[in-house]
Parts: sequence; C-alpha cells; structure tokens
Amino acid sequence: MQDAIIIGGSNAGLNAALVLDRARRQVLVLDREQPRNAPSPAAHGFLSRDGTPPNEIRRIGREQLRSYESVTFQIGDVATAQPSDTGFEVRLQDGTVYTSRKLLLASGVRDELPAVDGLAERWGKSVFHCPYCHGWEARDQPLAVYWIDPLSVELAIILGGWSDDIILCTNTNELDDTSRDRLNRYNVRIREERIIRLEGTGVTLQRIIFDRGDPLERHGLFVRPPQQHQSDIAQQLGCEMEEMVPGITTIKTGMMGHTSASGVFAAGDASTPMQQAVMAAATGAAAAMGLNHELLQEDFA
Ligand SMILES: Cc1cc2nc3c(=O)[nH]c(=O)nc-3n(C[C@H](O)[C@H](O)[C@H](O)COP(=O)(O)OP(=O)(O)OC[C@H]3O[C@@H](n4cnc5c(N)ncnc54)[C@H](O)[C@@H]3O)c2cc1C
Repeated sequence: MQDAIIIGGSNAGLNAALVLDRARRQVLVLDREQPRNAPSPAAHGFLSRDGTPPNEIRRIGREQLRSYESVTFQIGDVATAQPSDTGFEVRLQDGTVYTSRKLLLASGVRDELPAVDGLAERWGKSVFHCPYCHGWEARDQPLAVYWIDPLSVELAIILGGWSDDIILCTNTNELDDTSRDRLNRYNVRIREERIIRLEGTGVTLQRIIFDRGDPLERHGLFVRPPQQHQSDIAQQLGCEMEEMVPGITTIKTGMMGHTSASGVFAAGDASTPMQQAVMAAATGAAAAMGLNHELLQEDFA
C-alpha cells in the first residue's frame, strides 16, 4: 500500500511528489500525459524555467524525482477512486488496482475551445488564454479578444497593458451600456459581426474573417474558453466544488489542499482559479505538506 497516490503528474502533481518524496513517503504518481499547456511551444512566468517547452519542464521534474527513493511515476488513465477500509482503491481504465492511505488530485482542467475554423491549431501559438502567460510575446501587436462572457470585457481591458490596439469581437453577442462605456474609456474598439474563421501562414494569425464586413488584420487573439475538469474523480469522491470566478468551477480546498472528502487533497488548476504553472506547483507543495501532516498525526495517534 502506498502512503499516497497522486492522480496527475504535471506541474501540481510532480511538485507534490517531490515534497512527499523528500518527506520519505511512498508515493505513486499516475498520469495519462495530457497536460493542459501541451499545445504551447514554451511556458512563461515560471521562475528559472521561463521560455522552456512545457514537456521539458515535466521531463526535468520527473528526472529529479528519480534521484530520491520512494516515488514511482507510472503512465496510466485513472477510471475510478473509492474509499476503502484502509484508505483508497484506485482503478485504471485497464483494470489495474492500486491502494493508498491518501489521495491527491492534481488532474487539471481542459479548455473547451470555440468551434471556429482555424482556432484549434493556433491554440497556444497565436491564440492565447492568458496575457500573463503570453502577453509579452504579443506585445505592441494588433490584438483581438473573442467574447465568451462578460469577463471578456475585463480581458480586453487588461490587455491594454501590452498593446494599444485592442478590438473586442463580440461574435454577435449584445454588450450592455456599462461594458461599452468601460471599453470606450480604455480605448478598446468593438467588432460585432459573426466570426467565420481565422487565417494566417502556418500557426501564425494574420486576420479574422467575419460573415460580413472587412477582414480584421490581427496578430494575436485572446480567448478565455469555458473549461471542464480532466477527471471526474473529485465528483466520484463527493468533494465539494466552488465557483470563485464565474465560469471556473474548482475543487474546494483549504490552505493546505484538504478537500471536503476525508483523506483527499487537491492541487493545481483543478483546485484554483489562479491557473498558472507556478501556482499549480505551489499548491502541489502545500497539499503535499497537508497530506504529510495528516499521515504523521495518524502514525502517532
Ligand atoms: C495553451 C496554454 C498555454 C499556457 N501557457 C502557460 C504559461 O506560459 N505559463 C503558465 O504559468 N501557465 C500556462 N498555462 C496554464 C498551465 O498550463 C496550467 O496552469 C498548468 O498546466 C496546471 O498544472 P496542473 O498540474 O494543475 O494541470 P495539468 O498541467 O493540466 O496536468 C494535469 C495532468 O493530470 C493528468 N490526468 C488528468 N486526469 C487523469 C486521470 N484520470 N488519470 C491519469 N492522469 C490524469 C493529465 O493527463 C495531465 O498530465 C497555459 C495553458 C494553456 C491552455
């Protein structure tokens, strides 16, 4: 039996594994290798790794784990997790079963991209989700924001820190007067026609094509798409969820990653609306410490 099974072996899961490894805990990390930022050529804003390909960050993380003794990393797709008499029973899609005293969910989220021709292949390259991750690469360029919900107005306004040529494309959605006033005050212009497709050479963006009117020359598009959890294990275990930011439902956690389900901890994008790699790693570390403290209390009870 493992002290802990970590579901998800990316930024949150690997950092949690590192902390637990150094705390001399027996840990199994199960990962199906579909991290959220895989389409991006480089991760930014991560101390000492700025500009490094996301896969390389994970490779280094896994390599450093190998120099300790008690963590096993295994590729596998977790289908179910259930409480048992001694802790938890985790079953992979192929039927393999593992047991542990505690569980740490670091399974991340997935973006539901708008169905616009030419968008998916540019995701992470010239269509971005976050100015703090990719605003620098798009600085001083003509940029657009794709309307998803009222927070798209705030995204367009924030982008003004990186470029003074921002257009919010409402894709025929109605803007209220308050939003129009705010956009006007921050020099954000508006296009209201339906977006038909994105065009450009390779994965670059050169223009947005509408159902009527002139094409719009743009070199970057920002969109904050709806998201889903990559795994339903938190729901299977009855973990309470919360919506701290509209449109982002996360596993409710305490400061050290405790969820509402006994013995279950969570970290990373699945547990916070502050969704960046460095935040995922940090919450992974916090959850690992919370989990280790709980094990210690039980060891000496
Ligand atoms: C295009 C794009 C670019 C980005 N660029 C940046 C950037 O430059 N800088 C930055 O800080 N952030 C960036 N982000 C955000 C960043 O990707 C996330 O904040 C970060 O990856 C979260 O880490 P995580 O470990 O919580 O989840 P993830 O990295 O998504 O990892 C979750 C892992 O869990 C695994 N998993 C899920 N369910 C199961 C299951 N049932 N069984 C087994 N394994 C499972 C997945 O396969 C995956 O490997 C970007 C996001 C996107 C979409």
